[in-house]
Amino acid sequence: MQEKKKLNLGVKILIGLVAGIIVGAIFWMAMGADAAGAFTAKYIKPFGDIFVNLLKFIVVPLVLLSIMDGVISMGDIGKVGKIGWKTVAYFLVTTAIACIIGLIVANIFKGAFPVLSLAEDAAYEAKSSNLMDTIVNIFPNNAISPLSTSSMLQIIVISIAFGCGILVAGDKGKPFGDFITSFNEVTQRVMGFILALSPYGVFALMVWVVAAQGPKILGHLGLVLLAAYIGYIIHVVLVYSLSVKVFAQMSPITFFKKVFPAAAFAFTSTSSVASLPITKECCDDMNVDSEVSSFVLPLGATVNMDGTAIYQCVAAIFLAKCIGIDLTLTQMIIIVVTATLASIGTAGTSGAGMIMLAMVLDAVGVPPTYIGIIYGIDRLFDMGRTALNVVGDASCAVCVNHWEGNNNA
Ligand code: ASP
Repeated sequence: MQEKKKLNLGVKILIGLVAGIIVGAIFWMAMGADAAGAFTAKYIKPFGDIFVNLLKFIVVPLVLLSIMDGVISMGDIGKVGKIGWKTVAYFLVTTAIACIIGLIVANIFKGAFPVLSLAEDAAYEAKSSNLMDTIVNIFPNNAISPLSTSSMLQIIVISIAFGCGILVAGDKGKPFGDFITSFNEVTQRVMGFILALSPYGVFALMVWVVAAQGPKILGHLGLVLLAAYIGYIIHVVLVYSLSVKVFAQMSPITFFKKVFPAAAFAFTSTSSVASLPITKECCDDMNVDSEVSSFVLPLGATVNMDGTAIYQCVAAIFLAKCIGIDLTLTQMIIIVVTATLASIGTAGTSGAGMIMLAMVLDAVGVPPTYIGIIYGIDRLFDMGRTALNVVGDASCAVCVNHWEGNNNA
């Protein structure tokens, strides 16, 4: 019964996705991109926005409670450390590889990237943040404000700290631990109600994207988009196939099949955090122990962003070329380091990776205002990078699950 329900949601999301592309293309052909974009933004996108609002509302309690519950369910503090280190090591290594793949692909494409004479409207008000600030800001100076501003990294720190506090408090901490477990269960149910709406949300958002973007914007930008997607695909095929095969002893085909609903959902929602419950269901389907998935997935959805890292590397090379800067090898290394950190600091929400790109550009002397050049099509990058981010989280969960001595499906 449960199996059937799971399958149905994945299939329904796929139907929503395909129907959205078809209807969006019809709008685009019938009205032209501008009119179709304006019309669908006014009358169809709002239904997608309702869905996205609901997801955003549930995300903070979901991350806070599921990580805390994940920590509590491990039962002893030593185990948190053991799983925690494996998870973080996997995240860091795969993200650094993602950056290198992004740089290699972008360099191959670089010759074909244009040097633009830039129009005023290329400027985009980017918030630039430097490296040390980003690190310092991971640690909250207030217990409430991270929750109201959805500062995900700070929320993770709070959850891990309180989860560990509950474990260390022993019997005295137990009532609070039980409360958190129960609250988490209730939150998951509320999330289930919201998820039931996902095929409709996906449809509405897809109609709008396709109607508004159309192929016309793709000219030069098509090339950088292609470079990013080639990077995404190489990473999936090379890194995830290998890691699930070698570290989790699992057939990559089975893995990709089972993770598909989460990837499809991430592709359309462009939010790893919002995709979290579906990613969790996919991991349940692969027999990942709940103890592992409820720790690895929420953490991954907020800090593990391989797709974002690839995008940031490709975009940095592209934008540098657009304004006539040829980056040196040292600058490329700086890109790897900053893009790894920037992707960690990127919230798992729509468009966040583009904001953090400012940090990478800053580090290599490209004014972040030039993000405006690719701003218009960020959503197209975001779809692929979010799907990759989510698949990366699931791949980590199956590997850690295997390392913990459990069998994957
Ligand atoms: N949308 C991405 C995610 O949720 C983050 C990004 O913008 O790169 O994973």
